[in-house]
Amino acid sequence: MEHDLRLVVVAAVVCFAACMTAFRLFSRIRGSQGMVRAAWLLLTGLVAGSGVWATHFIAMLAYAPGLPTGYEPLGTLASLMIAVVVIGGGFAVGAARRDSDNQVAGGVLIGLGVAAMHYEGMAAFQTQGEIVWEHAIVGASVLFGVVGAVAALLVAGRARTLSRQLMAGSLFAMGVCALHFTSMGAITVIPDPTVVVPEQLLSGGVLTFAITGITSMIVLGGLGAVVIEAQTSRSALERTRRLANAAYEGIVVVEEGRVNDANAAFCALVGASLDEVRGMWVEGELLAFDGAVGARDVERRREAMLRPRDGSVEIPVEVFARVLDDGRRTESAGLFVLAIRDLRERRSAEEKIRYLAEHDGLTGLPNRNALQTRLSAALDRVEASREGLALLCLDLDKFKEANDLHGHAAGDALLVEAANRISEILPAPSFAARLGGDEFVIVQIGGRDQPAAAAELANRILESLRKPFIYEGHELSLSVSIGVSLCPDDGRTAAALMANADMALYRAKESGRDRYRFFKREMDETIRERRSLARELKAAIAAEELMVYYQPQARTSDGEVCGFEALVRWNHPTRGMIPPVEFIPIAEESGLIEALGAFVLNRACADAVAWERPLNVAVNLSPLQLNQPGLSAMVHGVLIESGLPPRRLELEVTESALFKDYQRALDNLRQLKALGVRIAMDDFGTGYSSLSTLQSFPFDKLKIDKSFVESIHRHDRATAIVKAVLSLGRSLDIPVVAEGVETGEQLAFLRGENCAEVQGYAIGRPAPVETLANWTNPLARKTAPRRRSTAA
Ligand code: C2E
Ligand code: CA
Ligand code: CA
Repeated sequence: MEHDLRLVVVAAVVCFAACMTAFRLFSRIRGSQGMVRAAWLLLTGLVAGSGVWATHFIAMLAYAPGLPTGYEPLGTLASLMIAVVVIGGGFAVGAARRDSDNQVAGGVLIGLGVAAMHYEGMAAFQTQGEIVWEHAIVGASVLFGVVGAVAALLVAGRARTLSRQLMAGSLFAMGVCALHFTSMGAITVIPDPTVVVPEQLLSGGVLTFAITGITSMIVLGGLGAVVIEAQTSRSALERTRRLANAAYEGIVVVEEGRVNDANAAFCALVGASLDEVRGMWVEGELLAFDGAVGARDVERRREAMLRPRDGSVEIPVEVFARVLDDGRRTESAGLFVLAIRDLRERRSAEEKIRYLAEHDGLTGLPNRNALQTRLSAALDRVEASREGLALLCLDLDKFKEANDLHGHAAGDALLVEAANRISEILPAPSFAARLGGDEFVIVQIGGRDQPAAAAELANRILESLRKPFIYEGHELSLSVSIGVSLCPDDGRTAAALMANADMALYRAKESGRDRYRFFKREMDETIRERRSLARELKAAIAAEELMVYYQPQARTSDGEVCGFEALVRWNHPTRGMIPPVEFIPIAEESGLIEALGAFVLNRACADAVAWERPLNVAVNLSPLQLNQPGLSAMVHGVLIESGLPPRRLELEVTESALFKDYQRALDNLRQLKALGVRIAMDDFGTGYSSLSTLQSFPFDKLKIDKSFVESIHRHDRATAIVKAVLSLGRSLDIPVVAEGVETGEQLAFLRGENCAEVQGYAIGRPAPVETLANWTNPLARKTAPRRRSTAA
């Protein structure tokens, strides 16, 4: 045999070692970039090229044709260069892109590189004879080399596993060996003693050591690089793992839909160890996404439910997926990282905020906002199902009283109690809401036959709230007034139902409270009118559209005018003069009375100051004003501002003003009196007219109501009352004024009974301030008629 078998084995070993190292290095090229990539490429080219080259020469050494042989140095070196450059280039092409075209092209180039190296090396081979080539075999050898390299690159692909690298290396090595030994079979050496093998050629022995040394070093260097790199990447992996475990969020590496790796936080969330979760399906087994898209929906936050392994309740989580590109695997390998955040804490905070935003803090009932949304949802539902819906507006009858009498804590307790009693009665899906203050709303859903169902519910609530409520030993009564509107009869929208139930509530209160009223169309009209009047009144007060008329009061003894009563007038732009009996109650009910009262007082004081004679001016106070805390301060301010001496001002109050809050009214009266203002009791005889009222406070004047005066001589009872009041005044030393004196007859009677003063059409009608000159101006008196009457 022409080959030394031992050297053939050495050649094969070197070849396999070099090829495998080359493919191990080749795998590193993928994951790196820039300089590092170039370095890995260079190293691959060096190892593969020199390895193949060494294989060739060791195998050549094993070849002993039995003739003197030698190698031409330049050609030998050139073959090494060719090997490194062309094979390196082939690897570069193979690594450039991730498709099989590139791998085939790279493989072809590598195969051709091996062939070029081989035949260039053969060209440098000299022996004592003529070398004859069999061309068909040469062609086959090149084909073997190319096929081996292409197969190797295709197998190597993008896989980073050692087995793949070994396989690729082996294929490549087999290709190289096949090329070499096939090619050697194509040679026939015809000895020719005339051929001289030059002396300076490299001999076999020198080459053996040089080649083996260089190659081993390169191969070892390549292996070393790979080992070091693996080591550093392992410690990097370790660091990454520690980092991942320190993360608050759950982190899961998903491969092909299954858990490949997970951090401690994720394991804790799932309640299982890493070994247990590894290999589990992420979607379905561990996470449930709503909708079709799941974990693979990358770069987008999604919410999902996490299923703990112990079967406990699912945990709401937020999932963020990202494709993991570590350079080793392709996207088609389905490698994802999921970051998973526990949403429970955030959810419970959200729920708390939502709860607070939708519920009344005191009673826990839905508040006004929640009512709006829930009512419109309920309306949509009944619209579709054609069920009935009733809206009940509730207003506690004695809430303010309890609040004033027992304090705010008692008021709050009362509201809570009322809310509880209402809730107890309501069957779902009906619900109650608190609008604020002592106002509640009930939405009754699905009452079978309305209005009977709503009436029944209203009755049950009335009954339940009638039972007294004990608070700190006090028995607080707690009745309620209810207004009911029905859908669709009284309205289909929330706004219409609310407005109409509110009107019905107003009627319920007006008819004596502690009852319910259904909305009726007629209500609508009168109440609407009252409402619009209240709105207009508000504007009229602000625009000072109201006027003050003055009605004279005269001494009975000599008929001399000693003062005027200020009486408010509203000259409405379209309705004309509206009498105070019509708009004062509206002002009281809509909270406008304070502003109205202040306006009249201001005007009356300012007018009176301008009178040349220091006549008195009397101003009416509403019972509500007498219960108003800052009353005396307000009056004081007006007196100072106008400059009217306090003794010229008289304030008329009615007995009823004392009933609401006796103590506060009395306090106010005392403070007013301390200012030097006089206080008259108005409409005496119509209320309780109790002696105790007169004794409790030193009134400066009693005014007999005009209903008695007009009955003088017509009804004995009325005459008797007038007489009694007059004698009461005398005994208490309080001067008495008779109101509504229209006739001379009445005047004569009163004079005979020693009534101090008179007021009425017989003296003068209420009139604008400009018409008072003949009373207020001493000079005018002489020229103008003594009495004048102006239309009221
Ligand atoms: P009042 O305080 O009893 O006022 C007397 C009312 O009797 C006035 O009606 C006056 O015009 C009317 N009057 C006077 N003399 C006669 C007469 O000879 N015959 C008849 N038939 N009536 C006479 P007016 O002005 O319509 O006021 C009605 C009520 O409105 C007042 O009753 C008073 O309670 C209230 N009021 C008027 N102005 C004010 C005000 O500025 N503030 C408050 N809070 N109430 C006012
Ligand atoms: Ca009066
Ligand atoms: Ca009166």
